[in-house]
Amino acid sequence: MHYLLALLLALAPTPTPSTCTYDTWTWSVVARRAVAHQHVSKPYAQVTLRERAPDWTVTGCTLCREDQEKVAVTGMPPVLVCRYFAPRIEEALQAAANAGARIETLVGYRVGRSGGPVVRGKRTQFGWHAFGEALDINPNANGLYHHCQRNTPAPRTEAELGTCRRRLGGFWRPGSQPASSLTPDGAIVAAFRRVLGWHWGGERIDTMKDLMHVSPDGY
Ligand SMILES: [Zn+2]
Repeated sequence: MHYLLALLLALAPTPTPSTCTYDTWTWSVVARRAVAHQHVSKPYAQVTLRERAPDWTVTGCTLCREDQEKVAVTGMPPVLVCRYFAPRIEEALQAAANAGARIETLVGYRVGRSGGPVVRGKRTQFGWHAFGEALDINPNANGLYHHCQRNTPAPRTEAELGTCRRRLGGFWRPGSQPASSLTPDGAIVAAFRRVLGWHWGGERIDTMKDLMHVSPDGY
């Protein structure tokens, strides 16, 4: 009887949360730090369009902490990601680890206006992390690079980074640190492509290569 009850509870759809809470900030490109910190707490029914992910109609992902769920790989502290993606993110991470990848550090859900056009020195839009739809994996071995040449393919070697310069995180050294590095053919990027259809930040074709990052479109 208890087993049946547990089964029914597991099959029931997740009820809509009653509240929406999150802490946010805005990135100042002038000060090069987060400013305008704000704590939001309100009835869930008041969640606005801007607080919903671009793919909300399918995923239900929002800025709300209540829509995030913990995922963990063996031996790692759990991270929060959007509930819709959580089981498959866990599957991808575990598949990558089983294939020999070393998962050392993870950053998932992180609310802040860190993207989009700059208005009066500040960023204006929420990126995928804010909705729990992105992961930064091993940032110490997979930096964020800028000043890259436009329209260049995902790099396979350090030499293919060309004019890119490291801006955040550690140097990317796939030759000497293959298990910790994200690469186009490596276990981590392959697992996220296969399980979720997600893209690597190294596939960006603007002037940035975000080598620690995976998300629905790589941005
Ligand atoms: Zn990221």
